[in-house]
Amino acid sequence: MIIAIDGPAASGKSTTAKGVSQILDIPYLDTGAMYRAITYFVLENKIDIEDASVLKQVLDDIKIRFESENGKNEIYLKGKKVTSLIRTTAVTSHVSRISAVKDIRISMVKLQRSIGEENGCVMEGRDIGTVVFPHADFKFFLIADIEVRAKRRLKDLAELGETKSLEILMEEIEKRDKMDSSRDYSPLAKADNAIEIDTGVLSIDEQIEIIIKRVTNK
Ligand code: C5P
Repeated sequence: MIIAIDGPAASGKSTTAKGVSQILDIPYLDTGAMYRAITYFVLENKIDIEDASVLKQVLDDIKIRFESENGKNEIYLKGKKVTSLIRTTAVTSHVSRISAVKDIRISMVKLQRSIGEENGCVMEGRDIGTVVFPHADFKFFLIADIEVRAKRRLKDLAELGETKSLEILMEEIEKRDKMDSSRDYSPLAKADNAIEIDTGVLSIDEQIEIIIKRVTNK
């Protein structure tokens, strides 16, 4: 079974998708983490993404792998654990530019499909219900007011030891959503048949329950 959960930044996708995957006992995939991992690699190695042959080499060589360790999802890039490194402000501010590159998307979508097809998946991202799995069994599109979303990110950043003003975070999130929605290839979009859920007015348990009820028809 494929459950697609899409939506803008900080709309509650990860928490909801993880909860749904645990209850239904099907794998979970955070596709944003994959674009973040590529962005981290590009920044670390000062890769010129405009150079098609260099980019091809990078995409051919890159190995992204997820592991569940002590109940936590860890992401490895070429054997190096990058779970925290991909959440920095530097990565966040460059990820939309890098995830818009067609060849990067082609490569990631291929990987996402192969992971999803293996054992089914609760997959979260921006284009899962529209491009990655247009025939997903269930599609959800999460939204929330910008201030609610910025407050969530503020909390995530505090856990990483970073501080930022709410206003700046709101601007950054809006900028990222705009870039993600306006790119040419597989932009952030709600699939026609996706069910929209406003997480700003719900608790995490309620968000998860809405999806579980739909999926199990109970
Ligand atoms: O979900 P998260 O905020 O971690 O995603 C980081 C970025 O990865 C997004 O802003 C977007 O640029 C990119 N992304 C994407 N397609 C996906 C998932 C994420 O382009 N399916």
